[in-house]
Amino acid sequence: MSENKICDKTTKCPIYTGVLKSSETLTRTYKNLFCENGEEGRNKCKRYQVANIIGSCPSSMLPNTKQSVEEIIAKAELEKKIQA
Ligand code: SF4
Repeated sequence: MSENKICDKTTKCPIYTGVLKSSETLTRTYKNLFCENGEEGRNKCKRYQVANIIGSCPSSMLPNTKQSVEEIIAKAELEKKIQA
């Protein structure tokens, strides 16, 4: 049984695609800890958890934000209502 080490959201995830242009080191650290660290890494990533529940994650959210998944979702839902 082979585990998929790479997150399936890499092509659309701004963290993985290099939004943190000012810090390549930080991007590499995130990739090592979350994106390329198998199921264990993905399950620690708040972006991954939020996207799995509501289909996307606010672009500015970091994988290791201190906000809970519930808080991120509540804010994202509120922003959707304000924009509607
Ligand atoms: S930051 Fe999270 S959601 Fe984005 S590619 Fe890495 S593990 Fe996946």
